[in-house]
Parts: sequence; structure tokens; C-alpha cells
Amino acid sequence: MQLNDLKILVTGGGSGMGREFVLSFAKAGAAVAFCDVSDEAIAATESEATGLTGKVVGFKADVSNEDDVVRLVQDAHTALGGLNGLVNNAGIFRDGLLVKPDAETGTVKKMSLKAWNQVIAVDLTGPFLCTREFAAKVIETKTPASVIVNISSIARHGNVGQSNYSAAKAGLIADTKLWGIELARYGVRVGAVAPGFVDTPILQAMRPEVLEGMLKGVPLRRAAKPAEIFTAVKFIVECDYFTGRCIDVDGGLTL
Ligand code: NAP
Repeated sequence: MQLNDLKILVTGGGSGMGREFVLSFAKAGAAVAFCDVSDEAIAATESEATGLTGKVVGFKADVSNEDDVVRLVQDAHTALGGLNGLVNNAGIFRDGLLVKPDAETGTVKKMSLKAWNQVIAVDLTGPFLCTREFAAKVIETKTPASVIVNISSIARHGNVGQSNYSAAKAGLIADTKLWGIELARYGVRVGAVAPGFVDTPILQAMRPEVLEGMLKGVPLRRAAKPAEIFTAVKFIVECDYFTGRCIDVDGGLTL
């Protein structure tokens, strides 16, 4: 599939990698719809997209809310005059150890059920809802060929302090494989990208000494640029023989 043939929906397009994907697709001539949860973030991406080759249109939608996603996919389809691509990018994290005894009191602090549920809702239920609605639309409209890219994470291998996030990102890889099989008969390919550390607002908010310590474990000794993650997304879109698999883009980092 060529980038300039795409009519693609990107979730979480108001910041970080999502914004990079929206702008890069539009520069290549794709028509792009994106969603985010904040009006300011949506307006900022739309403003940056001014003058690019491809059309860019933003929608406010929470990917963990079923009604929002049903509306989003319909609105994106209408705005672009069809849909043949989806990037499940929106994600959050709420880190913490499963249990952590306080050194002085011995009281055991626990990861809250709320932190578990929030991350599973956005990072796993979100892609489930978006993929379900996208696939249904592709079938209903007899769209001959389409592609889905799921943004997972190196944390899918199990990262300390991320019980919720690791579970969601590992689940997304399992679903990438099974959706690749289930949806192939409808002309839908499904791939995943699992980044390591990427230079987005999440990393930029960290204390420099903490970030430096984290990057010491990366063989390439730096975080990825969002554009380098887009290179893998682009490969999945363009390679018509790629489905059900994940590309790790992590600078060689092993957890
Ligand atoms: P980011 O800068 O925080 O961007 C994510 C965007 O998604 C934000 O605008 C966020 O809004 C939005 N969002 C959050 N919850 C949403 C929801 N329920 N519905 C719709 N949009 C929502 O994050 P990023 O670093 O670019 O990460 C993008 C993806 O890559 C995520 O799935 C993340 O898990 C994954 N990833 C990131 C890294 C990294 O090092 N940065 C590494 C591996 C994987 P708010 O800002 O208002 O929350």
C-alpha cells in the first residue's frame, strides 16, 4: 500500500509519536483523521499540519469509551471519504510496583485497582474497540485492502513497575497476531511496533539524571526520535506481505 493512497485514523494524535505519525503521513500525501482527549492538543496538531499535502482532521474522542469510538470511526470515514488505515497509538501509563513495603512502617503500598484499570482501558480496550469498529467498517464498505498498526512497547516483555502497562502491551501483541489471522480474509493486515525509549513528552518530563541512567542500558545510548518509529510504521503500511508480527525498535535494549 502506498502512503498517498491512505485514508488513515491515528489515535492519540495530539502529542508525541501520534503527532509525528499524523504529520508524516500528511507530508506523504495521505488523508489523516486523528483523535485525542484534549482540545488544545488537537488544535496544536491541526495547526502544525497547515499547508501539508494531505488533509488532516482532528476529533475529540476517548479510545476507552465505546460510544466515542463508534462515533469516531464513522466521523473519520465521512471526513476522509473512506478509511483504509488505523494506527492504535494512544496510550498512558500509571507506574508502580505491585506491592512495596514502606522501609520504616512496614506498611505495604499496593498498585491500585484504579491504576490497573485505567491503563488496561486505554492501552488494550482502546485498540480493541478501534480495531473492531475499523474492521466492521472495512467489511461493510467492501474496502479491498487496509492496514492496522498497533503501537506496543518493549515493556511487553515484562518491565518492573509496570504490571498494568506490560500486560496491556503484551496483550496488544497477542491480538496483533490473532487479528492478522482473523482479518486477512477481509484484506486487512495487522502489524505492531514495539518501541524502547522514545523522545516524547513522557521522557522529556523525566529528571535528567533518571533519564541518563535509563539510557545507559540502551546499546545505542540514546532514545529514539519519533521519526525513527515512523520508519517502522511506514514499513508495515508499505509491505503488503507483512501481517501478524511485531517490529522491535528499541536501540538494542533488552529488559
Ligand atoms: P504521549 O506524548 O503522551 O501521546 C499520547 C497521546 O494520547 C496524548 O496526547 C494523550 O493525551 C492521548 N491519550 C491519552 N489517553 C487517551 C485516550 N483515552 N483516548 C485518546 N487519546 C488519549 O505519548 P507517546 O510517548 O507519544 O506514546 C505514544 C504511544 O507509544 C503510547 O501507546 C505509548 O505507550 C507508546 N510508547 C511510548 C514510548 C516512549 O518512550 N515515549 C515507548 C514505548 C511505547 P494526554 O496527554 O492528555 O494524556
